[in-house]
Amino acid sequence: MRPEILFPLFAPVDTLKGVGPRTLPLVQKLAGPLVRDVLFTGPTGVITRRRTNAVGAIEGEVGVFDVVVDRMIPPGRPGAPLKVRASDETGFVHLIWFGGSPQHIDRQLPRGERRLVSGKVERYNNEVQIVHPDWIVPLDKGEEIPAVEPVYPATQGITSRQVRKIALGALAVAPDLAEWQDPAWLSKQRWPGWRAAIEVLHAPSAEADLEADAPARQRLAYDELLAHQLALARRRRARKITSAPAIRPGSVSEGLLAALPFTLTGAQAQAVVEIRADLASGEQMGRLLQGDVGSGKTAVAAVAMADAASSGFQSALMAPTEILARQHFQRLGPMLDAAGAPALLLTGRDTPGERREKLAALASGAVRVAIGTHALFQDAVRFDRLALAVIDEQHRFGVNERARLQAKGDPRVGGVHLLTMSATPIPRTLELTQYGELEVSRLTEKPPGRTPVATAVLPLARIGEVAQRLKAAVESGAQAYWICPLVAESEAVDLAAAEERAIDLRRLLQTDVGLAHGQMPGAEREAVMADFADGRLPVLVATTVVEVGVDVPNATIMVIEHADRFGLAQLHQLRGRVGRGAKSSACILLYGGEDGALGETARVRLKTLRRTEDGFEIAEEDFRLRGGGDPLGLRQSGFPAYRFADPVRHRALLLAAADDARLVLGRDPDLASERGSAVQVLEALFDWKTDRSALD
Ligand code: ADP
Ligand code: MG
Repeated sequence: MRPEILFPLFAPVDTLKGVGPRTLPLVQKLAGPLVRDVLFTGPTGVITRRRTNAVGAIEGEVGVFDVVVDRMIPPGRPGAPLKVRASDETGFVHLIWFGGSPQHIDRQLPRGERRLVSGKVERYNNEVQIVHPDWIVPLDKGEEIPAVEPVYPATQGITSRQVRKIALGALAVAPDLAEWQDPAWLSKQRWPGWRAAIEVLHAPSAEADLEADAPARQRLAYDELLAHQLALARRRRARKITSAPAIRPGSVSEGLLAALPFTLTGAQAQAVVEIRADLASGEQMGRLLQGDVGSGKTAVAAVAMADAASSGFQSALMAPTEILARQHFQRLGPMLDAAGAPALLLTGRDTPGERREKLAALASGAVRVAIGTHALFQDAVRFDRLALAVIDEQHRFGVNERARLQAKGDPRVGGVHLLTMSATPIPRTLELTQYGELEVSRLTEKPPGRTPVATAVLPLARIGEVAQRLKAAVESGAQAYWICPLVAESEAVDLAAAEERAIDLRRLLQTDVGLAHGQMPGAEREAVMADFADGRLPVLVATTVVEVGVDVPNATIMVIEHADRFGLAQLHQLRGRVGRGAKSSACILLYGGEDGALGETARVRLKTLRRTEDGFEIAEEDFRLRGGGDPLGLRQSGFPAYRFADPVRHRALLLAAADDARLVLGRDPDLASERGSAVQVLEALFDWKTDRSALD
């Protein structure tokens, strides 16, 4: 329920003065449907004006000129500009309009009259000209021209100045709200109160007031982040009160652990402890298992599935590709079977007969573990007692797809526990905004026996040398990936390049070279990958289809062509395909075209890869690189649409808000205290529950 004090802010925008039938759709598009949305739409810049004259005016600045109107020069031909020549004691000032009404301009600038004129200074033949002056007033109205003027987002049909008037109208109805921030924190930060911060938002005195680190901005950003984190923390609580079967380890778990060809690393064991605590609690688990490539997430998931089987329940492991699902099934299936939990593989490639049999085995409960692809959440799939859903490479699935699998539980037994696994380590900030409602386990340690991957960065021009070295390595039994980029805009060209590369290498290396890409029929691609995995093919040329999860320990060389076209996280993933066995591995990043040029961002990316193999560190760096002026990239990487907060620049505030949200709800779950009710107003103000959220 929305607190009454917020009603004026949640009124439709057309209750504001200046919003009429014509402007309504424009305002809605610029800001949103509510008064609050206009209130939250701040200026994007500031115009600073200076009194100047024809001689002293500086190109690019916004100047105010005291001029006498000389004469109007109407457009000589259609499409030409209309000009007014004016002058001060130091020289001419030409005023220019494209498509202006001569009558209107004549009325504003009568011949022989003195006027104050403001606008952006351009110089043409060393004379000042102003295209579309922004102010023209008689001398006695000079104070109407603001020395500092905020610039609002505008669009065809509505000017910045109109938007500003409407925003000030919204400010006038904005109530004073009780402080929801912790007083000690607030005074430590030296932030203004909410109402004062909103006022500053609409009254910047310089560009600096609009910067992310200006106190009022920080305050508003923190409010927004806290509201979001509170919403996520609440959802986490809501999930926890959903009951789910209590699962405990048992004979199947013991059997599986004994069958694993290794002992768990400390990080894996810790993750198992955390998962087991969730599974045994009787509350529904929602946990994200984050771990670098090769950190051993599968084994952790397998233990959880064995636990479920030990307690008499079924579990499902869903992977984004057929290749991955098959790989999981080949590795885990026999061990689970032997431990007493029969498993099956369900993909889109089963024949109707096989499928019918498998569905029957799942529905009857004869099979305890289902491993598969998207085929798993189809309507026809029914479980007997599904209690645990594991999603591998979870970012490759839509929220609905995960939910559909989770919905296959038996309501009489309770909710289905969820374990999601992330392909790539992600920065803490992204973790908190995108997965704030999940608990997180991190695998920060890799299984023993890995050798670091020697990474070299070379210009593409040296591809010949690389091929020669590859030839020697292949002759002594090594296996290699050769990655060609695939850019959506030029897919056909890129595919042709990959095909050509395979032919080149075949000729040069005098050996079999396989080719795998996403456009091939699935069966054909998998046959090639299987040949490579089994060591029958020494070299595999591929587009990024090998990026996700593929595990061929014998492959020790990774060549990436046009490495500068890949993102940092993607390069890290690709490199993670090698260095998986005891033999030493190498990754060669070839950059640039024929000219060998390399952009600054690409240079930093490649340097980072040479410096470290720590996925979490790489993720933070990738994030920082993409964060710089690329809001689209952030949006794509799963950030909610914040109005004030910038997850890169307000990183520290985000971390603080996450702690704060847990603290507030931990102390006062029903928000019954005085601060609690202020916090409720904050939540309602930003309305994350119904508005825009990352994970539903
Ligand atoms: P990812 O986290 O990328 O999914 P995987 O689960 O595929 O990683 O594991 C990568 C490789 O490491 C596999 O070959 C797996 O058998 C091996 N592995 C996993 N855990 C251990 C361990 N504790 N000790 C040794 N090898 C391990
Ligand atoms: Mg994996």
